Amino acid sequence: MSDCLFCKIGEGKIPAAITYRDDDVLAFKDIGPKAPFHQLVIPIRHMASLTEARPEDSALLGKLMVVATKLAREAGVSDSGFRVVMNAGPDAGQSVAHVHLHVLAGRALGWPPG
Ligand code: AMP
Ligand code: ZN
Repeated sequence: MSDCLFCKIGEGKIPAAITYRDDDVLAFKDIGPKAPFHQLVIPIRHMASLTEARPEDSALLGKLMVVATKLAREAGVSDSGFRVVMNAGPDAGQSVAHVHLHVLAGRALGWPPG
């Protein structure tokens, strides 16, 4: 999608601090971190929201989780704990219409979330 911020990051048209890339998935540091460790893991293929997920997207969406865990492990925060969260739709506060998994760690994270 030509007007999608995260597609542009995937295409290298907008800079980001990229931490992981393969054929399907990209990860980069969140520009406005909400915790000492805050990265986003996205599918490279445009998908606006989790609300669009179909059965054939299962492997790709699962891969986001696996990459998130790899990033947390490599950052040394998997033992102390980390959170993965995906906002979908307005009530959840989704502000970028390209599926992204937040990976947060490095402090005690409140529950329930606001
Ligand atoms: P959400 O509110 O769940 O849609 O999350 C969107 C996230 O994208 C926020 O945490 C923003 O800080 C982050 N974000 C917005 N623009 C950029 C950017 N150019 N590079 C990295 N992260 C961004
Ligand atoms: Zn996109």
